[in-house]
Amino acid sequence: ILNRQFFVNVIKDMAELVEKEKDHLTKLDSDIGDGDHGVNLSIGFRETMKQLELINSQAPDISSFLKKVGMILLGKVGGSSGPLYGGFFIKAGADVQGKDEVTFEELIGMIENGVNSILQRGKAQVGDKTMVDAFVPGLNVLKDSTDLKPIERFAAFVEQMKKGAESTIPLVAKKGRAMRLGERSVGHKDPGAESSWMLMEVILNNLK
Ligand code: ADP
Ligand code: MG
Ligand code: MG
Repeated sequence: ILNRQFFVNVIKDMAELVEKEKDHLTKLDSDIGDGDHGVNLSIGFRETMKQLELINSQAPDISSFLKKVGMILLGKVGGSSGPLYGGFFIKAGADVQGKDEVTFEELIGMIENGVNSILQRGKAQVGDKTMVDAFVPGLNVLKDSTDLKPIERFAAFVEQMKKGAESTIPLVAKKGRAMRLGERSVGHKDPGAESSWMLMEVILNNLK
C-alpha cells in the first residue's frame, strides 16, 4: 500500500535528482537541442518544492496533490518537456480521486495514464527519438511482467526504460527541437529519454 507520504517523498526525491543531474541533462540537450533540459526541470521542481507543504496540506487526496504538482510543472518548466511532464503527473492522478493510498496495481495504472498523456500531447511514436522511446517499451514490460514481485517488476520497467534511452542514440530525431538537426542528431542520446528513466528510478527507490 502506497500512501500520500510516499508520493510526497517521490516528488522531493525527484527534485533532488534533478539538481544532481541538471548539468548532465543540459549537456545532452546542448548536443541536439538548445541546452536547457536540466535547467527547465530544475526551475519546475524548485518551484514545486517551494509550494510542496502548502499543496500537500490543501490537497484532499493523492489525485489533487499530483494534479497540483503537474500544474506547477506545466506552468514553470519552459519548453516542450514542461507540458509533457506536467500532463504526466496530472493524468497519473486522474483515476485515484478520493484516495489517500493506492495499491501497486493502481500505481501501474497511474503510470500508464501518465504515459498516455505524453503520447496524446506530444504525438510522438517509438523511434522518433524522444522520451516516448523510453516510456513505451518500459510500460509494456511493466504491464506484462506479472510473474515478477512488485519491486522486481518495477525494476524491470526502469531497466527497460534505460535501454530505451540508449536506443535513441543511433536515431534521427523526428520530433521536438532535435528534429531540425536531421541526420546530425544521430550519435546522441535524447535528453528527455534520459530524464524520464531517471525520474522513474526515483519511484523504484521509494518502493524499496
Ligand atoms: P525544449 O526542447 O523545448 O527546449 P526540453 O529541452 O526541456 O524542451 O525537452 C526536450 C525533450 O522533450 C526532448 O529530449 C524529448 O525527449 C522531449 N520531447 C520534445 N518533443 C516531444 C514530443 N512531441 N513528444 C514527446 N517528447 C518530446
Ligand atoms: Mg531544450
Ligand atoms: Mg528550450
